[in-house]
Amino acid sequence: MTPLPAFADNYIWLLQHQQQVLVVDPGDGQAVLQWLTGEPGLQLDTILVTHHHADHSAGLPDLVQATGARVIGPALEKLPVPHTPVGDGDNVRWGPLNWQVIDVPGHTAGHVAYWAEPEGQAPLLFCGDTLFSGGCGRLFEGTAAQMLASLDRLAALPANTRVCCAHEYTLSNLRFARTVEPDNSALAAYEQACMNLRQQGQATLPSNLGLELAINPFLRSRSPAVRAAALRHAGAAASSDAEVFARLREWKNGFQ
Ligand SMILES: [Zn+2]
Ligand SMILES: [Zn+2]
Repeated sequence: MTPLPAFADNYIWLLQHQQQVLVVDPGDGQAVLQWLTGEPGLQLDTILVTHHHADHSAGLPDLVQATGARVIGPALEKLPVPHTPVGDGDNVRWGPLNWQVIDVPGHTAGHVAYWAEPEGQAPLLFCGDTLFSGGCGRLFEGTAAQMLASLDRLAALPANTRVCCAHEYTLSNLRFARTVEPDNSALAAYEQACMNLRQQGQATLPSNLGLELAINPFLRSRSPAVRAAALRHAGAAASSDAEVFARLREWKNGFQ
């Protein structure tokens, strides 16, 4: 599994099984074609798309034209090429893997995630711009209640799931997370480890779900410390879980 860097901070994830290659969210088709040129004999045959934003889908026409790969994407969203529409509960077979589709609206209205369990390995999650390491996507088309419910779905997956996010936002997310939860020692240790990785020019991803449950404020918005911090910052009284989550997301939007 390879995170191929694209644009300023995107990752296009590539998976290989025998001679077959699967890519996720190819915002830049040329970057993928260039990678394939360096891997003679491999054939791109499947493209998974999590949502319609251009940094995840603009490479589709080039890739389909060059390789004829099939494109799987959200049923509720338009992509620049025809695609096989999938939604909650659908399965996508690729080599030995059976991808389960999970609807995760919030960042966009039809955003989907893909989860599979390779034999003898930790499960894999491609979650696009829904869950980031230490953070979550902005609410462009959905509500805080929808995003909270979507993150709850992802949080219920096995804790050893490898979380393949679509952006390298980890360090800036962790600065915010430390502001929310200054006493979280797991968070401090993780931030140091991620700073070391970035200094060596390495990706901080994939993360894993068990770690995210310990450090990501958007997966911890019901914990007393995160809840109290969000309400304190907003100057708000106790409110519903979705309202607390909304205050936390707004706080992050304005965080420098
Ligand atoms: Zn997006
Ligand atoms: Zn994106």
